[in-house]
Amino acid sequence: MADRQTPAIVLTVKDYGEADLIVTFLTPAGGRLTGMAKHAKKSRRRFAHCLEPLSRVNFFLSPRRGELEFLQKGELVRSYPALRRDLKRLGAAAVLAELAGELAGPPEAYGEIFATLEEALGLLEEGLPPESLLPVFLLRLLGLGGYGPRLQLCLTCGREPEPPLNFSIPRGGVLCGACSRGAPGPLLPLNLGALKLLRLAQDLPRDRLSRLRFPDQQRRQTLAVFRAFLRYHLGRDLKSWPFWEKVAGRELPGT
Ligand SMILES: [Zn+2]
Repeated sequence: MADRQTPAIVLTVKDYGEADLIVTFLTPAGGRLTGMAKHAKKSRRRFAHCLEPLSRVNFFLSPRRGELEFLQKGELVRSYPALRRDLKRLGAAAVLAELAGELAGPPEAYGEIFATLEEALGLLEEGLPPESLLPVFLLRLLGLGGYGPRLQLCLTCGREPEPPLNFSIPRGGVLCGACSRGAPGPLLPLNLGALKLLRLAQDLPRDRLSRLRFPDQQRRQTLAVFRAFLRYHLGRDLKSWPFWEKVAGRELPGT
C-alpha cells in the first residue's frame, strides 16, 4: 500500500536483477532520492511511461527501508516528446537534470531546484534555444545549490572589474585583467558581454529567464567556465557533458 505520493522528475533508471528497476529521481521535498520499482521490468502497467529519464511523474511510495524508497506505482504528468526528438535539447536537459541531482542541498532549496529544472524542461520542450537556456539555468542551479559564482565586484580589488576579465575557478568569481596577474589558476577568459548576461541570469525572475540569448562567443566562454567550475567542485565532469558537447558541436561553428 502506498502511504504517500510525491511529484518527481526521473533522473536515471537501471536494471536490478531479473525483474526490478532502481530509479533515481528528483523531488521538491527530499531532493534526489533512490527507489526500487519491484517487478517493473515484467509488468510495466503500474509505471506506464513513467520510468524514462527526464519524465515528470507522480510516484506513490510505500514506507522506506533505510535510504531506499519503494515505488508502488507512477502516473505520468509530462513526457516532453519534442525535447526527446532533438539531440541538442536533450543534451542540455541531461546536463541540467544531472546537475540538479548532484546539488546536495541545502534542503530548503530543494523545492526551488525542482521548480527550476521543471521550468527548464518546459522551455526546452517549447523550442527555446538550448544554447542560451543551458548557461542561464546552470547558473541558477549553481546559485540554488550554494555555488553561485561571484560576478559583481573583482574578488581582489573589490571594484567593478576592468577588462580583460578572467574567471577564477578556485575562487569562484571574476577578476580584473590587472588583478589576474599571479592569481592562482585555472583562470578562464570572460568578456564583458558574457559577464553582463550572467549577471542578468542571476537577477531576473525565473519566469523571465527564457528571454536571455547568449551569442556564440559568450556561450562558449560561459560554458567553458561552468565546466571547469563543476569539475573543480565535483572532482570530475558531469557524465552528460561530453554528450552535450558532441551534439552541440555538430551544428555550431567554432566549437
Ligand atoms: Zn580588480
